[in-house]
Amino acid sequence: AELDYACMIRVAIPGGRLSAAQYLSLDELARKLGSSSLRLTTRQGIQFHFVAKADLQELMRSINATLLTTWGGCGDVVRNVTACPSCDEEVRRLGLDELAQTISLEFKAPSDAYYELWIDGARVPNQVLGAARIARSVYGPTMLPRKFKIGLTTSRDNCVDVFSCDVGLVVDIDDPTRIRVYAGGGLGRSGTDETTFARLGDLFGEIDRSQILAVVRAIVALHRDEGNRDDRSHARLKYLVEAKGVAWARSEVERRSGVEFAPATRDTFEVDDDHLGEFVGGGGSFDLGIKLPSGRIVNRPGARYLDGVAALIEEFNPELGITARGDLIVRDVPVRHRDRLYALLGTYGVAVPERLSPLHRASFACVALPTCGLALAESERYLPEFLDEFYAMLADLSMSDEFFEVRMTGCPNGCARPYLGEIGIVGRSKRSYDIFVGADRHGTRLNTLFARDVDRSLLVSGLEPLVRRYRDQRRDGESFGDFYFRLDPAEIASL
Ligand code: SF4
Repeated sequence: AELDYACMIRVAIPGGRLSAAQYLSLDELARKLGSSSLRLTTRQGIQFHFVAKADLQELMRSINATLLTTWGGCGDVVRNVTACPSCDEEVRRLGLDELAQTISLEFKAPSDAYYELWIDGARVPNQVLGAARIARSVYGPTMLPRKFKIGLTTSRDNCVDVFSCDVGLVVDIDDPTRIRVYAGGGLGRSGTDETTFARLGDLFGEIDRSQILAVVRAIVALHRDEGNRDDRSHARLKYLVEAKGVAWARSEVERRSGVEFAPATRDTFEVDDDHLGEFVGGGGSFDLGIKLPSGRIVNRPGARYLDGVAALIEEFNPELGITARGDLIVRDVPVRHRDRLYALLGTYGVAVPERLSPLHRASFACVALPTCGLALAESERYLPEFLDEFYAMLADLSMSDEFFEVRMTGCPNGCARPYLGEIGIVGRSKRSYDIFVGADRHGTRLNTLFARDVDRSLLVSGLEPLVRRYRDQRRDGESFGDFYFRLDPAEIASL
């Protein structure tokens, strides 16, 4: 008899934009073929967990029928393209969504096999991609050495952590024809190989918007041709850029693309917006960013997110956005429905972001156990307990209203981007974690190891002396990460 396997299915959604009808179809499929749960991801996609092997084709075919796809959600290809989901009119006009769609389509691998296997033989890719795009596909017979991530944002807001991507594209908010290109970022590490590391992308330079596809294509091709194919833990583009140097990588990209990079200054960003809460739009409507517990949409006693989100979407039929922290944005709801919308949130126990503590609002975790095969420790299931304990410690120090951000993962692979969190808690074994501290709030500086292999019962008490010192010795307006960053190593060792 055939074994029963439970699988994870990931929908790739460029820029995290989807319609109400698409969401409601996914909701229905989650109830019928999933575990009555949806997981919004930090790459703005959506995952189904615990899908039975026998149901895979029906699920993937049904997803395809909504004009979404799982193709390119996983594998050694360009993964889901992320983009800042800002509701701000000025940002919307820059067309990040369209750019994310264009890049995504350009780097879909042509394959009839996917459609023949999962969509019952329909030759949809040829219709979608078109013959010209298939003919110029970058993948060739070898595909890529490993996955490849592309992120897009504006020079104002680094909510997507653009430097953590293999390619980061920053649209200048003051001159949208100018794009700054970063390459060689990536946060994943291996728990067993100390030579692996998190790295931020290097600035290659500035290009014209019309040159984006040529340049990104050249960078992907560089990864394809020169990336490490002998050792998967060193197969990401960042190891190539680190080994050969940014000057070499830049000139290779210029040679391959025929585009010369103009000199530019590294972006520092004004904010790292969580896109939660209310944004008043034009034309008598508003957008609402809803905080999901680590991206999870499921019914729990007193917090029926699956039913609540579905009811809200059914009633208002809004366009939707997914943030790069796995939260949901409900767009363009007429202001006259405002009271009704909040009443619905209350009925289902969906948290209103403004009522969350800054700590609970900012923090998130990767999936980890029980569904991730790489997990060494709990993450999503443990984060609420950790946050409540950490929050109690903050309350004891009269700091409960202050901003702290915790990013937790169940292994060093870093799916919740823990190395860009002010506090990163990274699973090391079943009961222990490494603590990283000191990233800035704009995603421009990695944190560093503060404590190794800490039993989870000691995580909060291990951080308490540092938090206390921050309270007593910080400068005006100084963030926790910045405070830690300027501490003398001897002071840190004394904690
Ligand atoms: Fe799994 Fe590790 Fe990614 Fe968490 S960080 S989802 S444990 S691979």
